[in-house]
Amino acid sequence: MPRLDNYNYMKNLTDWVSEKDIFNKDFIWPRQMEIHLPSNKEIACDFHCFYCQGSKLDMALGMDEKKALKLMEEIGPNTFEYYVYGGAYTEPLLNPYFMDFMRLTKKLKAHFGIHSNGSQLKKLQEENGFCTELVGLMESKYDYFSCSLDGGSPESHMKTKNIKYDAWTDIIEGLRILVKEREKQKSKGSIRVAYLLNKWNSSVEELTKFIDLMKEIKVDSLRFSIPYAQYGNEVKKVQNYKEKVENKEHKKFKDLLEPYMSKSKDEKPFVFYFAPENQDIDRMLDENYKQCAYTYYQTTMGSSGHIYRCSSIATPSFDYGILGKQPETVAELKEMIKVSQDKEFHCHTCIHSTARCNRMALEINSEWNVYNKANNHTAKQESTMAVGPKNKREEVKHVYSDIERRWNKKEYVEDNGSLNTGEDFRKPKSFQMYQANNEKK
Ligand code: SF4
Ligand code: SF4
Repeated sequence: MPRLDNYNYMKNLTDWVSEKDIFNKDFIWPRQMEIHLPSNKEIACDFHCFYCQGSKLDMALGMDEKKALKLMEEIGPNTFEYYVYGGAYTEPLLNPYFMDFMRLTKKLKAHFGIHSNGSQLKKLQEENGFCTELVGLMESKYDYFSCSLDGGSPESHMKTKNIKYDAWTDIIEGLRILVKEREKQKSKGSIRVAYLLNKWNSSVEELTKFIDLMKEIKVDSLRFSIPYAQYGNEVKKVQNYKEKVENKEHKKFKDLLEPYMSKSKDEKPFVFYFAPENQDIDRMLDENYKQCAYTYYQTTMGSSGHIYRCSSIATPSFDYGILGKQPETVAELKEMIKVSQDKEFHCHTCIHSTARCNRMALEINSEWNVYNKANNHTAKQESTMAVGPKNKREEVKHVYSDIERRWNKKEYVEDNGSLNTGEDFRKPKSFQMYQANNEKK
């Protein structure tokens, strides 16, 4: 099956940094900076998808946008090639500073990528000509807007997004506006649509109608895939999801979509299906899945206002993945990135802390560890532990067991060994007591 170049992640990486330099240089600017805008700071997102990665995790919204914009100004041009705006659990178009980030990205001569649920497009166009300006800023096909639509009708969309109103019709209208603006302004930007398949949105009738609609609207690409198992789940549970959902549904969806798949790269929209092998937990558990080279591809500023090793662990729930608080200066940011480009960090530290690599990272880290098999033994899995009230998953944090390794050197009540002595993990009984104890420390 043909594959668009932008989706060949290892090639993207090695076009940016030579294999020889990975883990051999003191510091290299990653190809891209991901910025998870903290929505409007009141709600994380206007939808409530059952597969949302953040819904069972800490959805902190503490990022300071003005500080982030100032940092970007200071970073300047010729550093990151891309700024990608999305969110592990937030909708970026709900953020009032959104367009400031787009304008600044272009001022810095970088490309922008946007991952959105599309709900605000029409409304913002009516309010302030949002789509007109956005398309006007798109300079090449590398500037893209990707809409996670995940439904071919208002009914299936409502079920998928867990909402009680028709948002789908306005999203479709929003996509039409974007494409029309692109024609009007003769812009070269890309408009992509992603579609996660589930039991409500995958009948032959719905998919046929939907693909025809996307052809009529003239979006550039349409990607189908099966949702990830949520982060924050133990390995066994993810393997169970693989067996019960991914493996079972894959065959069905592959056969069902086969007639619609694009045969050549030039087809518009380019319709393709990303199989679950691209998110396979067992590939991440492979003995040779060791070093994480994805830190040369991206670094992430999470909605919480921290810098993280990668976008899929960008929530305070994965405390061990925090590199530091939102930096004030470029020197601080570079120091954090330097720490993350670490030949000793082992991917299994993440996998055994209920986190997982995303599709891009899985591809890059798999290929990298084959390429570097002779030298990747430097990676060492570190022990982490879950702290916080076990009955409230969103308050549990996965921290390094070794206090010295923690980014803030913070101590927790669990450090005094209550975990190892078989004492009830939930003691003290209320979270307030737990917090009070930590305060005392
Ligand atoms: S639209 Fe995206 S961010 Fe919002 S709930 Fe769904 S998956 Fe989460
Ligand atoms: S989840 Fe994967 S890509 Fe992210 S830091 Fe861990 S090993 Fe690297």
